[in-house]
Amino acid sequence: MKYAILSDVHGNLEALKVVLAKCMEVQVDEYISLGDIVGYNANPKECLDRMRSLKLVGAVKGNHDEYAASNDNTMEGFNPHARTAVIWTKSQLPPEDRAWLASLPMRLTIKGTLITAVHATLDSPDTWGYIFDVHHAADNFAYQFTPLCFIGHSHVPVAFCKKPIALYSERMITEIEEWVDKNPSPGAFLKADSVSIDLEPGFKYLLNVGSVGQPRNKDPRASFAIYDSDVKVVTRYRLPYDIRTAQEKIIASGLPERLASRLERGT
Ligand code: ZN
Repeated sequence: MKYAILSDVHGNLEALKVVLAKCMEVQVDEYISLGDIVGYNANPKECLDRMRSLKLVGAVKGNHDEYAASNDNTMEGFNPHARTAVIWTKSQLPPEDRAWLASLPMRLTIKGTLITAVHATLDSPDTWGYIFDVHHAADNFAYQFTPLCFIGHSHVPVAFCKKPIALYSERMITEIEEWVDKNPSPGAFLKADSVSIDLEPGFKYLLNVGSVGQPRNKDPRASFAIYDSDVKVVTRYRLPYDIRTAQEKIIASGLPERLASRLERGT
């Protein structure tokens, strides 16, 4: 069974189309949404329609989904661009879509699988914290009872694994660096369109799949993952898409210009 795990689509239809085409090509069976389907980019309604039409076996709520679903416009902690985008996004969504977003759980163990899904963190999913290092990963692992946990939220792919006690030597939790492209050579960075991890029995994995619609790891390509449960491999894909069109739509919608310019920088 192949599961596609998509996070932080953020209303970017151009990126989502390319991602879903790849999923069709590699014959994904089922889909998992890690939240923030809306916000920032110009096609929240279209992205919601596409996501909801998939064979979704699990979907959790992101902070932008929560704010888009809420009637509160104060949005403490949001920067002005994000706030403007949320208010605009609300105006684009019919009540039924906002009700669907409101109904999503914060975290979910997906029935019949070894997968837990959460937008931000398992230890405190509704405070929207970030996981960037092994210390934050350790907090999350304490609440992770399945071998696999997929997260999003930071828009920066990271990966950690926790070895079983029996194999404990110097460090139980380590970062899986190849998932992240740390210090890549310039050419290699832009060439490789996927990276795979072979899952070891007894290990736990915490994987941030990156963002489909607004990557912030300085690689502007759409990022997502596919888990193949038959061969126990998780692959993260990086796909180029039509950034120019996504940018033009942002400008035409009257959304902040910075939301367009950041797409090509991947920031
Ligand atoms: Zn997000």
